[in-house]
Amino acid sequence: MCGICGVIAKKDIVDPLFRGIRQLEYRGYDSCGMALLNKGKLKVVKNTGSIDEVNKKENFYQYAATTGIAHTRWATHGGVSAQNTHPHLSSCGRFALVHNGIITNYRELKEQLVKKGYTFLSETDSEVIVHLLEEFYKERKDIEESLICTSRSLTGSYAICLISNLQPDTIFCMRHESPLVLGIGEGENYVASDFYAFISYTKNTILLEDHELATVTKDSYIVKNTLSGEVCRKKLTHLDWSAEIAQKGGYPHYMLKEIYEQPDALRKALCTSEEELASFVNCFEKARKKFFVGVGTTFYVAEYAKYFFSEYVREFIPSISSDEFTTIVPPEK
Ligand code: GLU
Repeated sequence: MCGICGVIAKKDIVDPLFRGIRQLEYRGYDSCGMALLNKGKLKVVKNTGSIDEVNKKENFYQYAATTGIAHTRWATHGGVSAQNTHPHLSSCGRFALVHNGIITNYRELKEQLVKKGYTFLSETDSEVIVHLLEEFYKERKDIEESLICTSRSLTGSYAICLISNLQPDTIFCMRHESPLVLGIGEGENYVASDFYAFISYTKNTILLEDHELATVTKDSYIVKNTLSGEVCRKKLTHLDWSAEIAQKGGYPHYMLKEIYEQPDALRKALCTSEEELASFVNCFEKARKKFFVGVGTTFYVAEYAKYFFSEYVREFIPSISSDEFTTIVPPEK
């Protein structure tokens, strides 16, 4: 699971944005990036690797901004590359978007957008969202309204954050089946996929529900339901967490946290496309040797898989702890 963070304030936000995505590192990721707005100029900085590696390559801190969104990606559609890393820009270069989740109807949407002349720079499902938004914006000339139209065309799961130099004092965000919360500060506001991206700055939070869209400025927020278009009355929750508890997302143990994350993990796994499955089965059938490899908890998964698969495919497939793998099975020359 990857992470989203957005910060808007009257002062510079690059540091809290950077710290925000660092707090989300535990969710696992392969690349990261930021979209920054400063004096009406929109800049996207992104690359592959750990947050520290990307910062070494790109030096986020050389930029100044008062509005920004950031993302740590865990690739589901398209390989790990700089082009596939979020944020994605719309064709006109005026909208930047980050997305957590999977858009299941992205192929159909992409086909329609390509026919309309849109060029795709990435292999991700996420890029369709930002082009679609641009397409709706051409007619409606209103970002919030265009996002609502976009949400009605999407199927799948998403937590989305969007900024634009057409409305530089605002972060737009919405969710469906992927977590998203607001952090309400004084003269500064936050959006994130987990509270602890912003818990060191504010403990006041709003939990967004499915089909909700929030329009956030440095000192205000409005939440609307994307199905009815009506304003939602939201309750401000004060988090009474220590920094240590915050790291565990409010759960007393990581194990409990991971147990509660299982529905989302299952949903993602079940979204694997037929082609991806077929190519995996093909690889599996052709391989001369097969092993289940994992470490810690995933080693237990590998152990379970050994019994299950060996019986199912009628071929013994051993499980090996990954820290011992190259010792027990040296690479073939
Ligand atoms: N499906 C998107 C991608 O592959 C987002 C993945 C994520 O949630 O990190 O870029």
